[in-house]
Amino acid sequence: MARRKKKRGKLLVVSGFSGVGKGTVIKQLMAEHPEYAFSVSATTRAPRPGEVDGKDYFFIDTETFDRFVDEDRFLEYARFFNRAYGTLREHVEKLRDEGKTVILDIEVEGAMNVCRLCPDAVSVYIIPPDAKELVRRIVGRGTETAEQIQKRMLKAVQEADIVERYSYIVVNDQVEKTVDEIHSLMQGSGTVRVPREKALQITKDVQTELKEILKDRTECDNISI
Ligand code: 5GP
Repeated sequence: MARRKKKRGKLLVVSGFSGVGKGTVIKQLMAEHPEYAFSVSATTRAPRPGEVDGKDYFFIDTETFDRFVDEDRFLEYARFFNRAYGTLREHVEKLRDEGKTVILDIEVEGAMNVCRLCPDAVSVYIIPPDAKELVRRIVGRGTETAEQIQKRMLKAVQEADIVERYSYIVVNDQVEKTVDEIHSLMQGSGTVRVPREKALQITKDVQTELKEILKDRTECDNISI
């Protein structure tokens, strides 16, 4: 008897403000539901302690990255913070062909490109329940230089304008609830717990808070992301 072809998997694009707990939500989603698979991106940035090549990212040098761009191997890619990040087309296709729902953890520029190229993609932007707490977390990261923190803040300010283009804005108040919410959205059987209007207001608040802090730091005028 001929084997029936697997139903092609869906595409879930997840973005979120730095420090919002996006990574934890994605890990938990995959731990609870085996149908999800993570799209491992390629990046030119160095691995952080504990990161594993081929699991967290494919860590490649700039020459290799540029060659991949020339060979059209990226579904999308973006350059910021003097680094490059790209989604590997073949990797995503293979997982989707296996019937997996592929999770892309990418920033807004890449996310919007994927949504344009793959209109069936579901896009989710994760925000915090409280703007002030997130801003404290972004500003207070002990491991980064002042310039790195400012770049992160600038990027978050820019990202905030694009959040309304996502299919869903999800508030991460408790990981378990956020995971259930995203999963039911993917099943087509759920709604967001926080109304869109309210979520957009929180997003605006994050942006306003960050702008306020950046205003006081004149040196950021010279920084580009
Ligand atoms: P990090 O360096 O902290 O791992 O990631 C920085 C940002 O790059 C995060 O917002 C992450 O979602 C985004 N990112 C990771 N991989 C990709 C990718 O392949 N494409 C794009 N556009 N962004 C990515």
